[in-house]
Amino acid sequence: MLGAIEAGGTKFVCAVSENGRDIKERISIPTTTPEETMKHVYDFFRAFSIEAVGIGSFGPIDINTKNDTYGYITTTPKTAWQNFNILGDVQKHLAVPAGFTTDVNAAALGEWKHGAGAGKTSCLYMTVGTGIGVGAVINNNILEGLNHPEAGHIIVRRHPEDHFTGTCPYHSDCLEGLASGPAVEQRWGEKGSELTSRPEVWDLEAYYLAQAMMNYILILTPERIIIGGGVSKQPSLLAKVQEQTQQLLKGYVQDPMITHNIDQYIVAPGLYDDAGITGGFALAAQALENTPG
Ligand code: ADP
Ligand code: ZN
Repeated sequence: MLGAIEAGGTKFVCAVSENGRDIKERISIPTTTPEETMKHVYDFFRAFSIEAVGIGSFGPIDINTKNDTYGYITTTPKTAWQNFNILGDVQKHLAVPAGFTTDVNAAALGEWKHGAGAGKTSCLYMTVGTGIGVGAVINNNILEGLNHPEAGHIIVRRHPEDHFTGTCPYHSDCLEGLASGPAVEQRWGEKGSELTSRPEVWDLEAYYLAQAMMNYILILTPERIIIGGGVSKQPSLLAKVQEQTQQLLKGYVQDPMITHNIDQYIVAPGLYDDAGITGGFALAAQALENTPG
């Protein structure tokens, strides 16, 4: 039996699976303090005999095994969780091999394994929600380096008629600052879900997301790009992003996936809300494989 923890800023989802795909049981726990939330996590897993666990966590987190703070949630604005050694705490309480990565890397891994990225050697997953996060599987492995990518905070060219300051506390008008759910809400004065009938909102949103697509395509050349998160539920958005990405690239990347089949290249998630948990099972299976004996 494999365990998965999707550690989100609002809620923690824990689940168990026999085969790494079908969820046998799942629980959702509000994210309050580490003491309180983690107690419920361990209570859930106590009922099962899991062999390994995979954690996809909100961040920023430290995933560089060489660092003293490996396994920690680091500089999060959620003060109760700052410098919390989530991986160490899980290992101490569950005493099984544990895999650890970001929430978006876990979602990328889940989609690559069993969702919209299945059968590819690379795929990129972007969530456009309260923040913008990006995870990638490249050459069948999660993309990691110095630490995890922070590709939601890239610089984008501002639309000449957009005078919104931006919401990012670090950079103001980075991609997340201009195109996250809260940015949409503050710029237009209404929640994104109430703005469906205003095409100009989604044209501008696509203007920014398409720039991100262009940069990711040029730098990482993923075989598929998946866009999830609350804002991606807007029915008109995906087609606008596909179209504007093609326009921005101007035929420079001559692959038929981009020039002719972009609707099969930049796609909606296959697993939707189960992407992160499914990736957690895959991480757990990897942790088990990498454990000697
Ligand atoms: P989180 O990023 O916190 O995990 P979500 O992915 O659900 O959560 O994203 C929440 C954000 O998405 C909010 O800013 C919300 O206003 C926005 N959102 C949710 N549903 C829609 C929708 N149908 N259209 C546009 N924006 C939406
Ligand atoms: Zn930023």
